[in-house]
Amino acid sequence: MSNQPIIITTKLKIGISACCMGCPVRYNAKGWDLVKSLGREKSDFVWVPVCPESMAGLGVPRNPIHVVGADGRAIWTNEAKVVNRGGAEVTDAVKAGASACMEALERADITAYIYMDGSPTCGVYRTTLKKQKRGNPPGVFGALLLDKGYFLIPASDLQSPLKWWDWRRRLLAFHWIKTVEIEDMKTLYAVWHQLKFICQELDEPWARALGKKLAAVNREAFMDFVEVFRSEIMMVLRKPSTPAKITNRLWKHYAHYRKASGKSIPEINEPTFKRNVTTIAGELIKMERAAVDDGILFGNTPVIYRHRKPDYDS
Ligand code: SF4
Repeated sequence: MSNQPIIITTKLKIGISACCMGCPVRYNAKGWDLVKSLGREKSDFVWVPVCPESMAGLGVPRNPIHVVGADGRAIWTNEAKVVNRGGAEVTDAVKAGASACMEALERADITAYIYMDGSPTCGVYRTTLKKQKRGNPPGVFGALLLDKGYFLIPASDLQSPLKWWDWRRRLLAFHWIKTVEIEDMKTLYAVWHQLKFICQELDEPWARALGKKLAAVNREAFMDFVEVFRSEIMMVLRKPSTPAKITNRLWKHYAHYRKASGKSIPEINEPTFKRNVTTIAGELIKMERAAVDDGILFGNTPVIYRHRKPDYDS
């Protein structure tokens, strides 16, 4: 680790609600291919689609279902039930389908899951259509996803190039901090140096406090501190950023890149320059590529995925 981006060459596995990958498994036999929005980036990941309601054996098409009771969590403590539009109770079937899907995700060893919000089953922060008021989040499967601690991404954000860029760079950093070995103080400092810029962007006061705790840590408390350090960073990396924060940081890191490389990238604009999110995402991707090519750390994206090519092998 140094002033360079970390390059990951293994494709991360991402679980996904199958209806968001084009599988026509919704109650009305429809599906949307939201992954198509990623273009060529789709092949940077291994996808693991699952559909808990299909695995429940409810069939396609089927009567839509909803939770009667507090929320999807209460299903797992037998304090709520799942019924379909015809009034039939399908609680046991939905639990069996959700458990089977979770077993598949665990076998696949996924890092992240892309969920369909608004579903009483896969929804995490919303379990009904916006205008309806039926049931509370999380959904039956959404409750299991939250308990497993996966990096959770709403499927609708795949359609926005900037939101996806933000999710993707945080996901790669999340995977790295989750798996990197930290055995001594030197590595601990190096890991912080790698991630501190993105952490500062996401939550400046918290990052400042963590930096101070890091400076004060002693050898006796080292192992306990590493676990707190790791879990706090993983928690913060789940938070989306904003276009304003992203463009400000882009400009700051671009200044560093120009100084370190002596090169410029004419397409990169100042934060005050008005442009749409697609243009901003394009600038970020150009900056990432240039940073990797020149071996300079671009703090917005400290961890990058690249196909295994001789130029990028570590
Ligand atoms: S939201 Fe989940 S349960 Fe519903 S169709 Fe999609 S994958 Fe299946």
